[in-house]
Amino acid sequence: MDLAEFEYSGIKIQGYSEGGVRTSIIWPNLDLAIDMGNTYPGQTRYKNLLLTHSHLDHFSGVPYYISQRSLQRLEPPNIYFPKEIHKDLVELFKIYSRLEDFEYKLNLIPLEFGETIVLNKQYSFAAHQTFHRVPSQGYTIYETKIKLKPEYNNLNQAEILLLKEKGLEISQSIIQPVFSFSGDTKIEYILEHEDVRKSKVLFLECTYIDSKKDVEHARLWGHTHLFEIAEHADRFENEKLVLLHFSPRYSYKFIRDQIQKFLPKHLSERIEFFFPKKASIKK
Ligand SMILES: [Zn+2]
Ligand SMILES: [Zn+2]
Repeated sequence: MDLAEFEYSGIKIQGYSEGGVRTSIIWPNLDLAIDMGNTYPGQTRYKNLLLTHSHLDHFSGVPYYISQRSLQRLEPPNIYFPKEIHKDLVELFKIYSRLEDFEYKLNLIPLEFGETIVLNKQYSFAAHQTFHRVPSQGYTIYETKIKLKPEYNNLNQAEILLLKEKGLEISQSIIQPVFSFSGDTKIEYILEHEDVRKSKVLFLECTYIDSKKDVEHARLWGHTHLFEIAEHADRFENEKLVLLHFSPRYSYKFIRDQIQKFLPKHLSERIEFFFPKKASIKK
């Protein structure tokens, strides 16, 4: 399968995203996937699955993912999701398990907004509210870095060693939002969450990009329009803004042209696309 790829300071993210068709993102370094709107070989190997919402273009691969991991006797996956859909998911997977006539092994973990889940020493994540037509949430991945306290910045190696030997606490941990993933949402996701605007990389849905499907239409269906991103261009503090979930009605070329046309340069020069690698820009 021809996946999209995005790399940021040595961290690779892969996947695909077409609005209303399928969206799935994997982050191999972290043993983590976000949404599963389809399946392809190898996708079932990631142990943590973060679900933004239950629309099938983000969800249809989930029963297969659980089934395959159970069959292959892989560790039960940790599946995180908006807490409102907990009961339905329990029932749904119980029915699938019955239909397949074997036991599904999985950990269902409903998340409160803002609740932090630690993945390892370096990374953790939290869910933030999104604004869609069904219960939904986006995810922000945080990096913890150990840094020297600012008051010791001027010391040399030997002096630092001396303080350490004296048992002084000379370092502190700094937590930064590194990646945010919107899932499907109206523009309020950006306006309401500072950590999302400050994430070094933001994967943001941009389902509609022209006046044939205007802002009103986008808002009615719980999505973000390019014109709203343009209107709020000054709010984005991200180093990279990766746009995805475009409606399949648009060609890659038209998408690139609209971005150039409607976004101010200070934002358009930070835009990346999550297109399949072999996507021809002429198409
Ligand atoms: Zn969608
Ligand atoms: Zn949706």
